[in-house]
Amino acid sequence: MTGKTDYFGTVVIPLYNERESLAELYRQLTTVMERTFAGHELIFVDDGSTDGSVDVLRELRLGDRRVKIISFRRNYGKSAALSDAFKAARGDIVVTIDADLQDNPEEIPGLVARLEEGFDLVSGWKLNRKDPFTKTLPSLLFNATTSLVSGIKLHDFNCGLKAYRGEVVKRVSIYGELHRFIPVIAGWEGFRVTEKR
Ligand code: UDP
Ligand code: MG
Repeated sequence: MTGKTDYFGTVVIPLYNERESLAELYRQLTTVMERTFAGHELIFVDDGSTDGSVDVLRELRLGDRRVKIISFRRNYGKSAALSDAFKAARGDIVVTIDADLQDNPEEIPGLVARLEEGFDLVSGWKLNRKDPFTKTLPSLLFNATTSLVSGIKLHDFNCGLKAYRGEVVKRVSIYGELHRFIPVIAGWEGFRVTEKR
């Protein structure tokens, strides 16, 4: 675990129809970011939601200018959402997290501590996702194949929770479905990549 750092931190949250979880996610993220960073911003990317997610975001921004909103006119996909947020991010450290509360913001300090050990990208690794076999088996095959082919050994490429040194997100260029391969691209660029359970 890590105490308060001198870093400015950015959290990037791509979201598509996640209205129900946004206020709670904001609350949890703010608590942990204030504890861990000297300053922070939360960049929410509304990827063309149709459930009024953006109204919740505007409400949050009214009360907290550290909340930034990027809003897409239609659904462009997670890679496009991350890509735009990465361009806007000001953080020395950038954290990505899914908006559906599947990942716990309390894990952020642990990821930051790994960066401070000398890594450039630390990927979360969810051991017991409460997903059915029909989802975990393809995921297992995807992770094994990607590890084998790329030489970047991770157990959970798809985990939405990751922490990066700021320079990494400025270097990787992603589109289409490439968000699943960010650790591979970063590893091939020479960045030090690891994972944390
Ligand atoms: N998401 C997005 N655009 C999309 C699909 C998903 O921004 O077109 C967001 C979604 O709201 C969530 C994150 O990307 O915050 C991960 O999506 P999902 O939970 O569907 O992925 P999984 O958990 O199955 O990997
Ligand atoms: Mg999810």
